[in-house]
Amino acid sequence: MIAKVLTDISLDREFDYLVPENDGNTYRTGSAVTVPFGRTVRTGYIVSFAETSNYDTAKLRPISGLAADRAAIPEKLIALGKWIAEYYCASQEHAMRTLLPAAVRSGKIKERTVKLYSVTDRTAAEKYLLEHASDARLAKRLKVLKLVMRRKEAVKAEFSGDIDFSAGAFDALVKSGLISCREQPLSPDPLGGVEPVPDAPLTPSADQRKALDMISDMLAGKTSSHVQLLYGSTNSGKTEVYLQAISKTVAMGKSAIVLVPEISLTPQTVRRFRARFGNNLSVLHSRLTDRERFDEWNRINSGKVQIAIGARSALFAPFDNLGLIVVDEEHDSSYKQSESPRYLARDVAVVRGKLENACVILGSATPSAESLYNAKNGKFLLCRMIAQVADKPAPLIRIVDRRLDPPPEPGVSNLLSPILINAIHERIAQAEQTILFLNRRGYARSMCCPQCGYEARCPDCSVNYNYTYSRSREVLSCHLCGNIVPAPTVCPECHSPEIRYLGSGTEKLESVIRGIFPDARVGRMDSDLMRSSTDYEVVLEKFSRGKLDILVGTQMIAKGLHFPGVTLVGVINADQGLSMPDFRAQERTFQMLTQVAGRAGRGERRGEVIFQTQRDSDVLKFVSTLDFDGFSQFDLEFREMLEFPPFSRLIAIIFKGENEKAVADYAAGFAAELQVYKHDHIRITPPAPAPIEKIRNQYRYLMLVRGKQLKTIREAIRILALHRIPPAGISVAVDVDAQDLM
Ligand code: ADP
Ligand code: ZN
Ligand code: ZN
Repeated sequence: MIAKVLTDISLDREFDYLVPENDGNTYRTGSAVTVPFGRTVRTGYIVSFAETSNYDTAKLRPISGLAADRAAIPEKLIALGKWIAEYYCASQEHAMRTLLPAAVRSGKIKERTVKLYSVTDRTAAEKYLLEHASDARLAKRLKVLKLVMRRKEAVKAEFSGDIDFSAGAFDALVKSGLISCREQPLSPDPLGGVEPVPDAPLTPSADQRKALDMISDMLAGKTSSHVQLLYGSTNSGKTEVYLQAISKTVAMGKSAIVLVPEISLTPQTVRRFRARFGNNLSVLHSRLTDRERFDEWNRINSGKVQIAIGARSALFAPFDNLGLIVVDEEHDSSYKQSESPRYLARDVAVVRGKLENACVILGSATPSAESLYNAKNGKFLLCRMIAQVADKPAPLIRIVDRRLDPPPEPGVSNLLSPILINAIHERIAQAEQTILFLNRRGYARSMCCPQCGYEARCPDCSVNYNYTYSRSREVLSCHLCGNIVPAPTVCPECHSPEIRYLGSGTEKLESVIRGIFPDARVGRMDSDLMRSSTDYEVVLEKFSRGKLDILVGTQMIAKGLHFPGVTLVGVINADQGLSMPDFRAQERTFQMLTQVAGRAGRGERRGEVIFQTQRDSDVLKFVSTLDFDGFSQFDLEFREMLEFPPFSRLIAIIFKGENEKAVADYAAGFAAELQVYKHDHIRITPPAPAPIEKIRNQYRYLMLVRGKQLKTIREAIRILALHRIPPAGISVAVDVDAQDLM
C-alpha cells in the first residue's frame, strides 16, 4: 500500500511512501506522520492511499511512524483542503495548514493530563503496611499508600494540603507495583467557572416560523438546495432563528458551526449563545491563547461539544457529524483571508456543507450581490424576513448636502454642518447620546506646504495623502506600511514655517467637537488610540454606562454594538468610500452606512441619522430610505453591464517586487503564457500598476481575469503561480474571487 504524503514544505507536491505493515500503528487519511526526506526526517499528513505508484516501488521508502506529538487532520476535512488548494490556486500544503490551528499543528502544546493513582492489589498493600509500619524511612510512602487506598482513584494534587508528600513517594510506590498510575486528559473549564443564566427559546414570529420551517425541510433533505439565504433587516430576529435552528440540529445528534465577523464576536453575542447552549458551546475568538485554542480544538475533536462559534477559521472546526453552518453577516469582507490560501469563508462554508451533507444559513440585512444572485437563480433558497420583531420604527435619515451650507465663519471649522451641530445640541440637552463617524484616523489626512507645493508622502508607498498627521503624537504615519516619522515643523523643501494640513481625521473631529461643545463628555475610538482590546472595552464601557455624551470614531465602531442610549448618528463624509476605483465601492458604502444607521435608536426613543455629503449619489438616495432592494437592483444592473461578479468570476493576480521594470516584465511574460487559455468568454485586463502602486517599497502590478467559465484558465494560473519560480525578488499572489482590487 502506498500513502501520498504532503510534507511541511510548500512544494505543492505529494510524495509516495510505503505504508509499514506491522508497526502497530493505524494509518488513515489525515494521519500526521514522520517520513524520511532526503537525509532528514520531516513531518507531513497522509492525504490519500493508492495501490500503485508512478515511481519505482522498489525505491520508495516506508513512513517512519506516526508523528506522536501532532494531531491528525479529520478525514472529512482533507477533501475540503484539496478543494481549497485547487479553487483558490494555493499550494496543497498551505491549504492543509489552514485546516488546523497553529497551536494544534505545531505539536508544541501537549494535552494537559492528570495522573490518577489506584491500588493495584489491596491484599499486597495491606501486607506492606503491616510489615513496614515502624520503618521511619518509609513514613511518607506509607502515608501516601494509605491515602490512595482510601479512594478508588486518586489525583496527587488532592493531597497537597493534607500531607507533606513528595512526588518521590508516589513514584516509588508505582515502581514497587503497589499502586498503578494512568494518565487522563484534563478537560478545561470553558466557562471559567461562571455559569450564565440559561434562557429558553422565544416563541417565533410568523417570519421566524417561515424561516425555521424552511430550515427543518432543509435539514430533512427535502429542499432543492442545502443553502438558505436569510435576508432580514437588523432586529428582524435572525439570531433567534440561528439559535433555534442550532437547537434543532443538536437534537438530531448533529453539530453546528456559527461564523461571525471577528468584530461582532463581542461578549454580548457570546452571552446570548452561552445562555442558550451553556457548556455545549466552544467560543473561538482571536484572543484565545495557544493553550486555550488547543484545548477548544480537542474538545470539538473529541465530541465533547456540538457547537462552535468563531470568526473565519472556525469554519474548520473538526466536527465529525456536522449538520449546520451559520454564516452571520454573510456579506462581511472579513470572511476573506488576505494571505494564501485566499479563501472566502462564506463560499467555503457552502462547499463544506455540500461535502459533509450539512445545511448552510447565510444571514444578512444587506446580502452580498453574489448571494442575492444565487438566490435569484435558485441555487440558494431565499427566505425574506420583513417584520421587525422588536417593532422599532426605522431611524429618521437625513442627507445633508454640504454644498448648500452657508460658508463657515472665518476661524470656524467646516467639518460639521449647522444641521448636525443643532442635532447634537438637542441630544446633549435631552441627555441622549451621539455617535459621530469619520472614516479616517489621525488629525489630518496629509501635510503640505503652500509656498512650494511640497506634500508629505511615505517614501515607501505611493498613494496621495498616505501620510496621516497625528497632532497629539506629532508624527506622520502611513496607513499602508505603518511607517512613522516625526512631523516636521518647517517645510522640508523650502523651510517655510507655514505648514498646512489637508483633510480631517477623527483626532481633529474630536478637537472640533470639544471646541463646539465644551461641556460635553467626548470619547474617541480608532486604531490610533486603541492599542489593546482593553482600551477598546474601557471606552465602550464608559459609553454604555452613559458616562460619555459623544463618541467619535472610525468604522471600528460601526458594527454590531448595541447602545440603547444613542439616538443620533452622524457621518461626516458619507460619500467618502464612493470614489474608490473598485466595483464594490457602492456595495461597501451602502453596507457601511446602513450598519452605522443601525446604531441609532436601539433603545426606547426613535433614532436619527445625519449623513453629510459633498456630491449627488444614487447610493445615498437608497441609503436614505434604507431601500436595500432598490439598491441591490441598481448595483446588480451596474455589475451586469460591466460584466463584473456575480455576472462573471474574477481572479486578480498581483505581481510584486522592488524593481518596477522587473515586475512589469515578469507580469507581461506571465500574461503572455495565459493567452493560450483565453477564449471569447474570458476578459483579461493586462498587468498594469495597481491603484496602490507601491507598498513598503514593493511595486505592485495587477492583472484581472474575468469570465463565466474560468476553470481551465484557473488551473493554468495555478500551475504558473505555484510552479514557475519567478526571478529573485519577485512574488506572485493569486486572489480568486478577490474582494479588494486596490
Ligand atoms: P437580528 O439578529 O435579525 O438583528 P435578533 O434575533 O437579535 O435579530 O432579535 C432582535 C431582538 O428581538 C432581540 O432583542 C431578541 O431577543 C428579540 N426577539 C427575537 N425574536 C423574538 C421573538 N420571537 N419574540 C420576542 N422577542 C424576540
Ligand atoms: Zn515648502
Ligand atoms: Zn508607507
